[in-house]
Amino acid sequence: MHDIIALKELLKEPKQVMITTHHKPDADALGSSLGLAGYLKKKGHHVTVITPSDYPSFLNWMEGNDDVMVYSQKNDHLVQRIIQESQVIFCLDFNNLSRINEMGEYIREAKGVKVLVDHHLQPEDFADLDYANTSAAATAEIVYDLIKGMGDGDLIDAGIGESLYAGIMTDTGSFRHPSTSKNVHLIIADLLNIGVRTSDIHRFIYDSSSELRLRFLGYALKDKLVVLREFNTAYISITADELKAYDSKTGDTEGLVNYALSIEGIVFAALIIDRKEAVKMSFRSVGDFSANEFARSHFSGGGHKNAAGGISTDSLEATVEKFESLLPLYKDKLAASHNR
Ligand code: 5GP
Ligand code: MN
Repeated sequence: MHDIIALKELLKEPKQVMITTHHKPDADALGSSLGLAGYLKKKGHHVTVITPSDYPSFLNWMEGNDDVMVYSQKNDHLVQRIIQESQVIFCLDFNNLSRINEMGEYIREAKGVKVLVDHHLQPEDFADLDYANTSAAATAEIVYDLIKGMGDGDLIDAGIGESLYAGIMTDTGSFRHPSTSKNVHLIIADLLNIGVRTSDIHRFIYDSSSELRLRFLGYALKDKLVVLREFNTAYISITADELKAYDSKTGDTEGLVNYALSIEGIVFAALIIDRKEAVKMSFRSVGDFSANEFARSHFSGGGHKNAAGGISTDSLEATVEKFESLLPLYKDKLAASHNR
């Protein structure tokens, strides 16, 4: 982690700044990006936020959302130009350039100063300035601490604070994961103090399902949940046709994997979805079992110890088969007594 003085120095004069975050941004990815963007704009910088893909509509209430550029083949040239012309490039809530698709190589080649702000494990070494902290609960927590650390805490207003709040709230599982430190609660107390609508934000994010999304949840839990007691593991696999039948939108499957993990005695859970371009996997664990290690070793992924993701280019069926066939190798590590 670099000294904060280096960042303060870099941002001393107004600059062309670009902020990006990971594929299919979640609340921490988008919230940390828009919170940082709001602050930098107040400091006089010219800021563009570019996401490598679309994101759930339950995040579109954040201040600055309307100015977000979503990368697509259609605006590829414009995005390349913005990346080339940016003097500072912030990479938020991811630590491997493969997580931002086509934009990864553009940023690798870019001349601007690359600043990494992230809390995932095993960062790739591509940034000029590194503010990675794997013990932070959320990237939004690091952004808050950086703004404060540069002596600009008074610039954090309710709009910026609400984006940061969303990131911290969701990445801590609404303040229940072990990552929910005293620092997290102190930040939240400060955000309440400046007028952040905490209860409304919870509702925007968690209580805005379509009827079909809820019926899909019911279907997935009733018909698609597989519980493997021998390995204290539960998983749900979803076909492309099932996504279509329930008119599944970006973000509709978020949180589904947590239901599998909530079963008594289960220490490892997976959600395996056929996204057509690839099979996408979400892993969650409790205790010492490392979802990160499992995702890294077998499914070209990574993340945090207890929450990770990965990808497979095999068919859904073959991926599920591979997943099940790996579990015996982990039988001891999956023993509930080690993990609860
Ligand atoms: P989710 O299951 O919610 O998509 O992701 C869980 C965690 O793993 C998040 O912190 C996310 O950034 C990370 N993650 C998800 N998919 C991937 C992946 O394919 N590669 C890596 N390195 N991390 C991932
Ligand atoms: Mn995060």
